[in-house]
Amino acid sequence: MKKELSIALFPGDGIGPEVVREAVKILKVLESKLGLKLGLKEAPVGGAGYEASGHPLPKESLELARQADAVLLGAVGGPKWEKLDFSLRPERALLGLRSSLGLYANLRPAKIFDALIESSTLKREVVEGLDIMVVRELTGGIYFGEPRGVQVMPDGKRKGVNTEVYTEPEIERIARVAFEVARKRNKQVVSVDKANVLECTELWRQVTVQTHKDYGDVALQHMYVDNAAMQLVRNPKQFDVIVTTNMFGDILSDEASMLTGSIGMLPSASVGGNNGMYEPIHGSAPDIAGKGLANPLATILSVGMMFKYSFANEQVDAWVETAVEAVLNKGYRTRDIMSKGKEEVGTSAMGDLVAGELEKIKC
Ligand code: NAD
Repeated sequence: MKKELSIALFPGDGIGPEVVREAVKILKVLESKLGLKLGLKEAPVGGAGYEASGHPLPKESLELARQADAVLLGAVGGPKWEKLDFSLRPERALLGLRSSLGLYANLRPAKIFDALIESSTLKREVVEGLDIMVVRELTGGIYFGEPRGVQVMPDGKRKGVNTEVYTEPEIERIARVAFEVARKRNKQVVSVDKANVLECTELWRQVTVQTHKDYGDVALQHMYVDNAAMQLVRNPKQFDVIVTTNMFGDILSDEASMLTGSIGMLPSASVGGNNGMYEPIHGSAPDIAGKGLANPLATILSVGMMFKYSFANEQVDAWVETAVEAVLNKGYRTRDIMSKGKEEVGTSAMGDLVAGELEKIKC
């Protein structure tokens, strides 16, 4: 692992800056523990980018991302910018970063900590031991397909259009990521599509089957998205790796997050290009922004994923997880994962607690 690493920090909007601040505490501990020199440079994106330069992804921010070894992002968006033209909305920054950096694979682990089983809305026996990896395609599909937009028809009524598009190479490369990930886990992939209705995902299924020929050691199963949504709450432990399209992955990974107790617990890694981008799966949570209520653990766990996937250091990822687990085992909770008999702490205190546990771990 290189000793000098540059990390672009994009706090974004709402609770984004609050949770990134806590993740930086973790980076600082790792810096001194491992004798690293971390060049942390911060820039605005999303609503903050729009306010700073009139665009959600300012040129300087994109340049910073291109040159960094990895990117850590908080979240973007908020009611203030909802009336802007689509091309200027904060969320466009995410799409711009993902496509410009070539980050076509989004890895979203949904793993339950034993201490949080009571925080899940599902029964203990349904979620205990849950460990799923959702591999979501990130730079194609309906979020990018053309034509798109709202058109006025000859009768004066409007028509909204979005297009689901996938090419064979796009499907093949994401399928390969899923099979490779599965090889290091329980060697089972469920490919989620809607091949009975959407031709585009019929192709998805065919290409996945074709690609699977190179991975005879991994089991492949197919599931329609409506069934997958149902199975995720009925019997989520049947899944090891789920691979799916951009939109289906967006929805199913939010569903999977609730199995683990809170959306505030789930980290993610976007990989495929020269560097990777790491972010919690949640949004900017305007309803709790500025109140010190945000759970920073998803962002903190994203730092672990950064070391695993961008810096090839799985050990650090395990340390971060151990530190988070230790804090949860001691009974500390942010409000979103609070349960009876536990001690509620705010965003900053939670960051301090995890940093403290991480410091105690012996290298
Ligand atoms: P959200 O994820 O921001 O919030 C959904 C619910 O979960 C809210 O009740 C919120 O308080 C709670 N929540 C989210 N993160 C939490 C955390 N860390 N700790 C405690 N509670 C947390 O989704 P939303 O309300 O649909 O969207 C709000 C804004 O975020 C919108 O502008 C949306 O476009 C944007 N968004 C951004 C991203 C991103 O930046 N990656 C992802 C999703 C939504």
